[in-house]
Amino acid sequence: MDIIIIYLFIFITGAAFGSFFNVCIWRIPLHQSIVSPRSKCPHCQQNIKPWHNIPIFSYIFLHGKCAYCGTKIKMNYLLVELLTPIIWMLLFWRFHNRFSWIFAKYIILYSVGLIIFFIDLYHKIIPDLLSLPLIIIGLGLSCISQIDLPFLSALAGAATGFFFFYLLALAVSHSLKREALGGGDIKFIAAIGAFIGIKGVLFTIFSSAAIALTVVLILKGEKSREIPYGPFLILGAFIHTIIGDWLLFIYFSLFF
Ligand SMILES: [Zn+2]
Repeated sequence: MDIIIIYLFIFITGAAFGSFFNVCIWRIPLHQSIVSPRSKCPHCQQNIKPWHNIPIFSYIFLHGKCAYCGTKIKMNYLLVELLTPIIWMLLFWRFHNRFSWIFAKYIILYSVGLIIFFIDLYHKIIPDLLSLPLIIIGLGLSCISQIDLPFLSALAGAATGFFFFYLLALAVSHSLKREALGGGDIKFIAAIGAFIGIKGVLFTIFSSAAIALTVVLILKGEKSREIPYGPFLILGAFIHTIIGDWLLFIYFSLFF
């Protein structure tokens, strides 16, 4: 019974943070403050009342519409409010149903990662404001003894991600005669490396490439040229964190 209450607590807290992450996704690319002023309807400019701003619940009882002008609220808001608690609960389960430093570390990575996922998807940029602090936090957390990755491994992970992508970007833009991987991707993979180390970062690079290739093949044509790479990186890293060990175990028991 206790465990159900803990999961409920994580769900509610996650949904509340998801609501805040929506503000970040909306405002950071526009260089607006994420703490003030109050949220407004982008259509009628009315201030959104606190009771119209309860995560998930408000979306349902307002039928996904602004309470004043009836303009449809994007489904994406609801998506982030749902994805955040789902990611948090998966991490809690993955790290043995305990509140620990390790759990906190991955909450930070995949919460900022979720914000980057959507900003990159909509605007095709990964703000330094998010990726650079993430590198520092990843390295800083590795100095704590309870963390699963020691400092030198975190540093090696960040360096591996950085140089792998830096060289790849040079090679690809040289052969395509245009910029292929943005500088934002390079800093973001370095940040991921600082959290999950060399093994994790290599897994992330190959799994993200596999997912990206699949999506490009499905979409085909010109549309696929416009796809940003950041979302694939965080998705690849998340797969590594949740089921990476299990996937590698299956892979090696099949082929070796
Ligand atoms: Zn409105």
